[in-house]
Amino acid sequence: MLAAAFDGTDLKLEERPRPEINRKEALVKVKAASICHTDLRIVDEGHKKLSGEGTTVLGHEFTGKIVEVGDGVERLSEGQDIVVAPNVGCGKCEQCLSGNHHRCPDYRAIGISIDGGFEEYFKIPSEAILRGNVVAIPEGIEPKEAALTEPLSTCFNAQTACGLEVGDFVLIIGAGPMGIMNLMMAKYGGASKVIVSEVIEERQERAEEFGADFVLDPTEFPLQEQVEEITRGRGADVSIVAAPVGQAQLQAIKSTAIEGRVNFFATLPQGEAVEEFPSNYLHYNQVYVTGTSGASRTHFVKTLDIIASGRLPLSEVVTDEYPLEEMDEALEKARKNESLKVIVRP
Ligand SMILES: [Zn+2]
Ligand SMILES: [Zn+2]
Repeated sequence: MLAAAFDGTDLKLEERPRPEINRKEALVKVKAASICHTDLRIVDEGHKKLSGEGTTVLGHEFTGKIVEVGDGVERLSEGQDIVVAPNVGCGKCEQCLSGNHHRCPDYRAIGISIDGGFEEYFKIPSEAILRGNVVAIPEGIEPKEAALTEPLSTCFNAQTACGLEVGDFVLIIGAGPMGIMNLMMAKYGGASKVIVSEVIEERQERAEEFGADFVLDPTEFPLQEQVEEITRGRGADVSIVAAPVGQAQLQAIKSTAIEGRVNFFATLPQGEAVEEFPSNYLHYNQVYVTGTSGASRTHFVKTLDIIASGRLPLSEVVTDEYPLEEMDEALEKARKNESLKVIVRP
């Protein structure tokens, strides 16, 4: 079978034997896998969770159909369409025991430390089955939508952490794919107005297409002033930073209302820093700053139900689709500002 595997330097297509499963594992025929910014970062810089041995199949945002189940596996059956939460916790620590495998200090990551979804057949590791990482898809969800369960669930996690309430003014900084998915989740969650800040013109247009109420360019006027004007001087109730820029984090805090909540959603690249720590702004305005990464199984399940509601224009986030054979082209496309989510189909 065909697989796209990382050898420590490059992501290359290779022929591999179809994985054999033991009695506690299951085999999935992958239908669609989405390219994440993390995949691009791994190709460019590597990742601390890479095993360093042999090649690893990347891809942690994917969906498929179960085609074989070991006789020691309960709950899963052949023919089921599923998604897999990619972080497999140790199952023993405080975070795992509280249902937060994504925060386990020793989690193993499907698509980084364990072979992932950029391949025709994916073997579900037994620990992933035992820990409940495999979730059946409700009916009526297209594979390309299901493949976005993981990234969308991280938006759900961020907005839950911010306590987003009906009627909130929401500011989203960055209109890449994650900014756009945060935008649609905020609208779904009841935001009265969603304000998007973005410097790249193509992405400003995208934000408009996806229903942003205001699209601002922070290089024209200070963002804080623009947000104050829109919110009648109040500031945003919730601000989400979906751009990997230190300065954007500072702008987000200063654009946030008294008792507002800020989420640092995007990972900052190594060496990227915030120039100033706005201690007194936080102090006088009682602003809550949160950060989130990944999502729990509960977030995953709820996100699938939200997708199944059909109320998000999620399939429109997929701007490009390629067969797995054209992985190089797909990666190139995913790096371009004109694309949002790029899907490969093994
Ligand atoms: Zn991802
Ligand atoms: Zn753990």
